[in-house]
Amino acid sequence: MGDPWPDLGSRMSEAAGTLTRMSIVTELSERLPGRVHGPGTPEFDAGRTVFAGPGEAEAVVRPSSADEVATAVRVATSAGVPLTVRSGGHGSDPVAGGIVIDLAELSGVELADGGLVHVGGGAHWGDVASALAPHSLGITSGDTGDVGVGGLALGGGIGWLARTHGLTVDILREVEVVTAAGEVLIANDAQHRELFWALRGGGGNFGVVTRFTFEAAPVDGLVGGHVRFDQSDVRAVLRAWRDVMAAGPDELNSTLLVMPQLMPEMPAGPQLAVALLGSEAELRRLLEPLLSLPSVTEVALAPVAYADLLEESPPGKPPFRLVGGNGFVPDLSDEALDVFLRALDREIPTMLMLRALGGAFSRVPADATPIAHRDGQALLAVNGILPPDATDEQVAAARVATDAALAFTSGEYSNFTPDFGEEQLAAIFPPPTLERLRRVKAEVDPGDVFRASHHIAPAR
Ligand SMILES: Cc1cc2nc3c(=O)[nH]c(=O)nc-3n(C[C@H](O)[C@H](O)[C@H](O)COP(=O)(O)OP(=O)(O)OC[C@H]3O[C@@H](n4cnc5c(N)ncnc54)[C@H](O)[C@@H]3O)c2cc1C
Repeated sequence: MGDPWPDLGSRMSEAAGTLTRMSIVTELSERLPGRVHGPGTPEFDAGRTVFAGPGEAEAVVRPSSADEVATAVRVATSAGVPLTVRSGGHGSDPVAGGIVIDLAELSGVELADGGLVHVGGGAHWGDVASALAPHSLGITSGDTGDVGVGGLALGGGIGWLARTHGLTVDILREVEVVTAAGEVLIANDAQHRELFWALRGGGGNFGVVTRFTFEAAPVDGLVGGHVRFDQSDVRAVLRAWRDVMAAGPDELNSTLLVMPQLMPEMPAGPQLAVALLGSEAELRRLLEPLLSLPSVTEVALAPVAYADLLEESPPGKPPFRLVGGNGFVPDLSDEALDVFLRALDREIPTMLMLRALGGAFSRVPADATPIAHRDGQALLAVNGILPPDATDEQVAAARVATDAALAFTSGEYSNFTPDFGEEQLAAIFPPPTLERLRRVKAEVDPGDVFRASHHIAPAR
């Protein structure tokens, strides 16, 4: 005889799950009136959407204090519901169900004594730069204004002033963090030191950071802009750029981008984005080996405000598949640059980006933060640009040249690694660093509540 109640068990547990989720949303709404947003509201749609696209969620909570964050964490964890934390929403991993804690209401920027700046965990870098501009101050961070302080800072933060002041985490002095147990802690060099270490590059695995305290620096007298080149001698551009940056002072920061011709109206070839804390004459003198190349097509250099260096991000994930990766380049040797060049010189359209490091970035000891590859003279990102439905053969062909280029790198930068798993974790963190991160995780989040994109499981 057949089962009279087919699938009864799974239907009952599904119904129980639905009831549990409904009661969590009800409980959250009672505990945090006006802060919980469900389907059909703009807050819900904004909260469940990141750069990678919209995801699934039961509800979006917008707390306005660390205590409210703690309440949301306690309610969600006691019911065993997945939690996602959202700052600027530029992460690469779509929201996958449960409760989203959207920190949009925690976006204040407050100047304190001694050049310290308290920044809410949900602020955007453009807002931070604008708020500090009247004080002639800036914080070394990314190059895009609408990226969130939370995700970028917890992953490291490579931006315009990386050679001058290091990574964003290198000038982080303190965090206020809500743990999985719903405790509000202050972590710095004097208390909760291991947690503070882990939060400077270990991502969103250890709690919800509601407030960052950074040490800002003067950004007066900034000059910058761009230089474009045609494709006639990319080798000469790569070598001259390497030499200019190696000889230049820490105050000189730049990124060299080499784009293929994707559209007829889009110029292909190397483009240099550059900024110097100094004068325009000094910048032109430092860049002379590049500016004197016959392939130069455009030079635009002028005084610039730090806030104006930050760009707007593109509207969403580009409609193609990027195949390749990133890594820190300890030695920009002629051989390495020639292999990078060969990655460009092929039928698969390929983009290459070199962000200059060295300087203050490289003077931080390897074990001072989870970002250990401090000998990097540049961060290389190299990607073949394929259609979204590329075949396995096309992907494999694209990888041949990008892998050859990446062989000259060590480690990976987590914020630029859009794939997630143990293989990526092993590439991002050297084994002792990863073990240390897992030990911190076991201390502060033994139940593994915070499963950020680059998920670090607790040590057992
Ligand atoms: C257009 C664009 C430009 C970029 N430019 C740069 C750049 O110049 N330099 C650079 O270093 N990176 C850059 N990135 C990468 C960027 O740093 C990461 O994608 C980062 O995760 C985005 O942070 P977010 O807060 O905007 O994203 P979100 O999607 O809000 O957050 C990403 C993840 O971080 C965690 N998280 C965020 N805030 C908190 C918090 N307060 N507490 C706990 N966990 C939190 C969560 O796990 C979340 O899933 C860029 C990305 C894009 C899309």
